[in-house]
Amino acid sequence: MNKTVEPDYLAHFKCIGGDCEDSCCIGWDVDIDHKTYQSYKNVSDLRMKKQFEKFIYENDWITDPNVDFAKVELTPDKKCPFLNADKLCIIQKHLGEKYLSNVCTYYPRTVNKVNGVFEMTLSPSCPEAARLILLNPNAMKMHEVEKPGKYPIITFDVDQKSKQYQKTLVAYFSEVRSICLDTMMHSYSPIEQRIYDLAEWVDKLQKIHNQKKTHQTPELLLKFRNKGFEPGIFTSVALKDYSENMVRVLLPVDSETYTKFSDEASRGDFELGEKIGRASCRERE
Ligand code: SF4
Repeated sequence: MNKTVEPDYLAHFKCIGGDCEDSCCIGWDVDIDHKTYQSYKNVSDLRMKKQFEKFIYENDWITDPNVDFAKVELTPDKKCPFLNADKLCIIQKHLGEKYLSNVCTYYPRTVNKVNGVFEMTLSPSCPEAARLILLNPNAMKMHEVEKPGKYPIITFDVDQKSKQYQKTLVAYFSEVRSICLDTMMHSYSPIEQRIYDLAEWVDKLQKIHNQKKTHQTPELLLKFRNKGFEPGIFTSVALKDYSENMVRVLLPVDSETYTKFSDEASRGDFELGEKIGRASCRERE
């Protein structure tokens, strides 16, 4: 059993399959772990075996055999070839859920381990998950559950007391996160303002770390808890470049929906940055 902390909304998640306005099987890489790859090699359904031989290839750039030992060759229009005309997975239909890879089984769930405790969340890259997260006034309410089995993919495993993190910002992970959560949950000012407050504060944290002054972190944590910061450290142009680069570097994908909304978000950041920058100049005058 795995003691796991998760948000309340997670229990309500259900993939809407063919009714999904986007699809995680279009425009995204489809990863196959080693165990699932072996099960495809040994499958007795000859029609499916042929399809596996045709579309699944061993990955030359494996990062983790539990994740991307092999990959699915997407069609020229970037669809998973195992998706039928109704946008349903034929592997699941013909062979059952246990033949799905770890990534296909778990997405959009993400598991991290923080200081020995598992934490499961949903990724808002799935529209159904995004609806559950963003339209839920209690999205930050958590509870603890016991889950059976072993998690095959743990995205981050962080023990902030570990020796390797001494003198790094990771040593303050829980404290930093608790300030981020408090700031987002308490409406002392509009959400845009609070995001900028956090952005400025995180930037300061990074700067003291870059200057090898990480020991000053507790002081900065205390300052923020007491006062918050004035907005304005991110000029609008810097923020636009930052968000565009993050999207480009972290998630180079072909999903049209993802690209469209990332562009809109980046434009939104730009406009918001200008607005807040102007407001903070007026305040200073
Ligand atoms: S993006 Fe989410 S709702 Fe859509 S098919 Fe994938 S898991 Fe299901």
